[in-house]
Amino acid sequence: MRHQNNGKGTAIDQSRRNFVSRAALATAAMVGGATFAQERNNTRQAEGDHSFSNPGPENKPLLDVNPSSNVPPPTDHGNVEPIWYSFDLTHKRVQEGGWTNQVTQRELPSSKDIAGVRMRLTAGSYRELHWHTANEWAYMFYGNARITCLNPDGTIFIDDISQGDLWFFPTGFPHSIQGLGPDGCEFLLVFDDGMFSEDDTFLLSDWVAHTPPEVLAKNFGLDRSAIAKLPTGELYIFPGSVPPSLAQDRAAAGGGSAESSVAYTFKASTMVPSKKTPGGEVRVVDSRNFPADKAIATGIVTLKPGGMRELHWHPTSSEWQFYVAGKARMTVFFSQGNARTMDFNANDVGFIPQVCGHYIENTGNTDLVFLEILKADLFVDVSLNDWIRHLPPQMTSAHLNLDDTQIKKIPAEKLGLIAG
Ligand code: MN
Ligand code: MN
Repeated sequence: MRHQNNGKGTAIDQSRRNFVSRAALATAAMVGGATFAQERNNTRQAEGDHSFSNPGPENKPLLDVNPSSNVPPPTDHGNVEPIWYSFDLTHKRVQEGGWTNQVTQRELPSSKDIAGVRMRLTAGSYRELHWHTANEWAYMFYGNARITCLNPDGTIFIDDISQGDLWFFPTGFPHSIQGLGPDGCEFLLVFDDGMFSEDDTFLLSDWVAHTPPEVLAKNFGLDRSAIAKLPTGELYIFPGSVPPSLAQDRAAAGGGSAESSVAYTFKASTMVPSKKTPGGEVRVVDSRNFPADKAIATGIVTLKPGGMRELHWHPTSSEWQFYVAGKARMTVFFSQGNARTMDFNANDVGFIPQVCGHYIENTGNTDLVFLEILKADLFVDVSLNDWIRHLPPQMTSAHLNLDDTQIKKIPAEKLGLIAG
């Protein structure tokens, strides 16, 4: 027991040191502040004392990646719905040729609008021909893939896609994904239905396995010996050969007259940033620049160390986030005095209910890359700074006790990303 107590004491001392240094920074920032700031500071000191000690059990690795949950800022309050989950907590379905895992409303109950799936396909391997009940949007993390999507009019879209690029498949449109050389691909899928499950899609193999053979023979115009070759169970992910060139595949699928007039891919990797500030850059992709995508609007955000996605909210949708790289902290303001702060690492998911205020701060020493994903045809946000600076100054002063000089220091417009 003595040994355990020693280890425990070290952990608490360390977290207290971290806390006290953060409290000292906060004190420096609040020198000369109003009475409320002083009260807030006293609260912080009291909470940093023995009140935070935890002689009982704790999951140290989990606490270490989420210090803001372990020692919340005193501005946090209330029991609110979860805003954090991680793909690294989910079951991984592994088959020959790749794997998949998912964060849906089952794992993150607050996310009613969006479910996310990760998938890895080795070179040549297929995500089987299929369709489903939700719209599908995707972001490529790694490698190269060939995708196909059939329109109801019989024209087909075939394209190759690389790291940083996107695709969109409308509800019910049949499609496929295949890993290309040299090492296949890995990607994030986003569906505009929180209860979507990647295990519930409509598979070609599943349908032929559950249709009477004589019906298949009549439908395809094949004899029973050919029908006997069809799969009798689902394929889902399975190995294959790396296909020929894109031009060869397009020609083999019928050539020009059979080609879709709609593009279901978007080469975001070559896109000029929509906004670039000293704090970072963002690429906004929605139906304005990717017309096929009427369901999912995205901000692909890169924040430099210390940079912050400014205080804002989304009037038309909730926000589902995926953290690609780096370390972040986010506080979500829920109204009625409730607020929750969590830390985020690569492969984590964040969630913000519609109209709830939030910021995202890069707390690491490398670039933070994350996706702000909205179930919407347009990416829309409201900036707190934009609001404050477009009011008569007297009105702002009456609410925030700031004088004209101080109000003018606030950025005069929506910056999106603020430098650290
Ligand atoms: Mn799909
Ligand atoms: Mn946002």
